[in-house]
Amino acid sequence: MGFMNLFRRSGPKIKVQSSKKDGFSGWLKCSGCSEIIHANELTENFNTCPKCNYHYRLTIAQRIKNLVDDNTFQELFTHIKPCDPLNFEDLEKYTDRLEEACRKTGRDEAVCVGVCQIQGNPTALALMDFSFMGGSMGSVVGERLTRLIEHAIQKSLPVVILSASGGARMQESIHSLMQMAKTSSALGKLSKAGLPFISVITNPTTGGVTASFASLGDVILAEPGALFGFTGPRVIERTFGKKLPQGAQLSEFLQEKGMVDIVVPRKQLKEKIAFFLEFFRQEKPPEKKSLLQTITAESEPYAKFKKFLALAVGSGR
Ligand SMILES: [Zn+2]
Repeated sequence: MGFMNLFRRSGPKIKVQSSKKDGFSGWLKCSGCSEIIHANELTENFNTCPKCNYHYRLTIAQRIKNLVDDNTFQELFTHIKPCDPLNFEDLEKYTDRLEEACRKTGRDEAVCVGVCQIQGNPTALALMDFSFMGGSMGSVVGERLTRLIEHAIQKSLPVVILSASGGARMQESIHSLMQMAKTSSALGKLSKAGLPFISVITNPTTGGVTASFASLGDVILAEPGALFGFTGPRVIERTFGKKLPQGAQLSEFLQEKGMVDIVVPRKQLKEKIAFFLEFFRQEKPPEKKSLLQTITAESEPYAKFKKFLALAVGSGR
């Protein structure tokens, strides 16, 4: 902005909520630190709070924009659509809930899978959408993921999955639970084919997704402050009659305990994923070496990771 503009601006800098119609002036209170921030500031900052680094939820389209090289994402297996095998009805019919979720999100299921390039690395990518029925894993989520992994094996591609899920989709009962075994077994085949799987945990990742593919990454990355666990803290505390340690199910704590390999701020996520994609492709140009050293030398919990990296280099993967 030019200096003179400071004195000549036509409108007020701070927009006051103008009409009740849109109900949103652009200013909002951060869920992390309660400071007032502007929506534009958020957008420019990958939807993270510039004051406290709180990571807000992203849509699939925003995720693709942040992670994938321009115009390289090709969605696959969209012909697999949800159905209602059990004719399930609780307070509402399952079919009505599905319709509502489609209308609300503009998506057709809780996962979007496809192939793309990430900093020039061909990749099979899956993105889960928490806003679609809590990112719950029903048969479509399981089937699309499994087909993506099988496609990756056929085409010799690495797999990257960004998880966000409340767990199994209750409305599909046992059909939902079977997806845990199906996706895990597909990942077993991927591993046998010598292809890497990078699991990225976003807030929140819980239940059957944690208990299957999300925990099976060769490398597990997590966004800061992401809840990653099987059952919520309240249920655990009620069961054991004990309080959990502070932040017990958040990515930073889990990194310390070895369940997460690296906590990666969203701004660096693309670069870090690309680093591992290249690492697994055995392209180790000298300039990458320093990054590798910083990762392994950071702290004690990395001993495990260091061993893994040494193994990966030694076995020529
Ligand atoms: Zn904040």
